[in-house]
Amino acid sequence: MGEADRRLSFFTEREGEVTVMAKSAHRSRKRFGGILQRYVLLDIAWTEVAGRIPVLDGADVAESFWKIPEDWERVRHADYLLELASALFPQPGPKPKVFSHLLSGMRALSYGSDPRTLGRKAEAAFLSIAGFGPDLSSCSGCGKSDNGPFRFLFSEGRLYCGDCMHRGGIPLSLGAVKTWRVLQAHSPEAQERIRIPEKIHKELQEVIPKYLEWCIGRPMRSLAGGFARVEP
Ligand SMILES: [Zn+2]
Repeated sequence: MGEADRRLSFFTEREGEVTVMAKSAHRSRKRFGGILQRYVLLDIAWTEVAGRIPVLDGADVAESFWKIPEDWERVRHADYLLELASALFPQPGPKPKVFSHLLSGMRALSYGSDPRTLGRKAEAAFLSIAGFGPDLSSCSGCGKSDNGPFRFLFSEGRLYCGDCMHRGGIPLSLGAVKTWRVLQAHSPEAQERIRIPEKIHKELQEVIPKYLEWCIGRPMRSLAGGFARVEP
């Protein structure tokens, strides 16, 4: 790796996360025109090199989210969305659903949507797409779907109603469970219409990020300090 080279990671629609070498990226601004930055949607081309890191051949700006760097909360959450995608979908291969969620999340952040709400939407959708569920359809004990409030068990990724479980788990109101069910939508268009009341958001913030960290087995860094880690 030469002094002027840069190693860059992209989250791509067709191949998932890809790390490439941008040769002479520092020295030659002409070569990539200074576009190799965060929060920019690029069309990129690279060459695979046997046994070595692929080499970036070209990059063109498709869309800039230049309002994200204007606000610290937007920056933190944009980084968080990227970290989530990288942590939950490390395998190579096409990632059209995750990519479209990332893209609509970046757009919404740039347009000034509430960053925290976008965080919950991304967590819920990514968990569901990655196969972590959780199954929120009904109480795992009696099968009733609306006998709230519920208790949520991390270890099972399931709900129990008050009749079936009296202690343990994390309490969730019926409203919070209903909202989380809707947030599991795989399409960004369906998610965009969802509004989360502040009271419900408070509940979900205590559960969804922690369940996600529990699923991947380590804390996320981008929002460190934003919420405390608890062992279920
Ligand atoms: Zn029950």
